Amino acid sequence: MNCDVLIVGAGPAGIFTALELIRLKKQKHIVIMEKGSPIEKRSCPKIHTKKCMNCKPYCHITTGFSGAGAFSDGKLSLSCEVGGDFPDLIGRPAAQELIDYTDRIYLEFGAVKEVEGLGNDDKIKDIRRRAIKAGLKLVDCPIRHLGTEKAQELYRSIQNYLIEKGVEFLFGAECTNLILENSVCKGARAHDVGKAEHFDVLAPVTIVAAGRRGADWLDHICREHDIIHESGTVDIGVRVEMRNEIMEEVNNALYESKLIGYPKPFKDKVRTFCQNPGGFVSQENYDNNLAVVNGHSYKEMKSRNTNLAILSSHNFSDPFNQPIAYAQKIGELTNMLANGHILVQRYGDILDGKRTWQDELERSSVQPTLSDAVAGDITSAMPYRAMTNIINFIEALDMVVPGFASAETLLYSPELKFYSNRIKLNRNLETNILGLHCLGDSSGWTRGLMMASAMGVLMGRALE
Ligand SMILES: Cc1cc2nc3c(=O)[nH]c(=O)nc-3n(C[C@H](O)[C@H](O)[C@H](O)COP(=O)(O)OP(=O)(O)OC[C@H]3O[C@@H](n4cnc5c(N)ncnc54)[C@H](O)[C@@H]3O)c2cc1C
Repeated sequence: MNCDVLIVGAGPAGIFTALELIRLKKQKHIVIMEKGSPIEKRSCPKIHTKKCMNCKPYCHITTGFSGAGAFSDGKLSLSCEVGGDFPDLIGRPAAQELIDYTDRIYLEFGAVKEVEGLGNDDKIKDIRRRAIKAGLKLVDCPIRHLGTEKAQELYRSIQNYLIEKGVEFLFGAECTNLILENSVCKGARAHDVGKAEHFDVLAPVTIVAAGRRGADWLDHICREHDIIHESGTVDIGVRVEMRNEIMEEVNNALYESKLIGYPKPFKDKVRTFCQNPGGFVSQENYDNNLAVVNGHSYKEMKSRNTNLAILSSHNFSDPFNQPIAYAQKIGELTNMLANGHILVQRYGDILDGKRTWQDELERSSVQPTLSDAVAGDITSAMPYRAMTNIINFIEALDMVVPGFASAETLLYSPELKFYSNRIKLNRNLETNILGLHCLGDSSGWTRGLMMASAMGVLMGRALE
């Protein structure tokens, strides 16, 4: 098969590239190769089974049209301060302009008009004052919250629009390698999921937008083809869950509190991430059977709890250059202790140096929204450095949100964010291999829906 532009991965980065090419009337034959299904065929059986079925050959939560976006909470961060390092590549004003433009496209496709985190100035001042006293920085970031169910509707309209405009989708097609001739990328090789025969798609422009799930695969591809990259950061953390009453003030004033600290003694960057008022803790399964924890919230259906991630960032120096493998090992060890599931422990038990027992969990006022999480001891698998960072950060957060560090607060593990290797890109998002571009979370430059989408828009603009 031949085409003008081949996009690997139908996540936000890939689909916004196609959208922008169409909006700019660039008249390209665009093929999008996606391992998963079209959006209407994506469904997670957990709604019925109440537990993760570890679906094979892939997890529908992160795979298929709109990538990790469809089942995500749909929180669009509208500030270039949040969502990745893409602004370092193109400059802050240009990144903010792209975000504002991309936000207007989301609105055209039916995103909610309301923006959270604006107004409430006095309350926010109060929260900021307490954060400063606790040695934390509160980052301002307005958020457009779609909610999981609305996000699916919105991405479905985008899918229909792209099909109507002639974009060709190869669903169920997994890219296995890139085709290179004399250091020029000529396209990609793929196979239909579950089948052995390979087929080639040839294109003068190949764009890899394989998301965080593709990080491992892309790491191999980079090594095989000498694509210039540097090892990325890994975030090792926990998903924290407590009653809405504790988080009420912050939830109402900000919806999402983006707090950053550098706690002693290591002074690593530790931050809050992905806060879900009235939300649900969820499980994601990677293809290598790694079960990691995440969280999301619906627009209508609410729980009694708020969850958020606390992430401790780790960078490694020479001679070690396998941060993803390092974090995976921590995840595997945690899964092993929980018999393949997610571990949950009460904060008080961590401080007391004991595991949490199921019956203790059942009589707590915070009931886990991830019902198949296994009560146990997350400290048995968490490295000392990460655990110390998390505990010291939670103690600081308690000064901003009284009750955050209470004995019954739940900590789930493993919460791991693998960021792909940071691929060296020029301002046209081209790698050192002619004809090969890399985008979104798989490029290592973005970490969120809006930033990945905005990078896609820039890609669409950059192509002749
Ligand atoms: C549960 C959950 C909740 C989240 N909530 C939020 C949120 O509220 N706000 C926010 O900003 N971000 C959120 N995120 C993160 C956000 O979804 C991602 O940052 C964003 O989707 C990245 O977009 P992307 O296009 O780079 O990659 P992805 O969305 O990951 O898409 C990549 C696509 O590539 C496909 N693919 C991978 N490898 C191959 C291959 N070899 N061949 C063919 N196809 C391939 C995958 O199937 C996938 O569909 C959440 C993520 C998860 C998992």
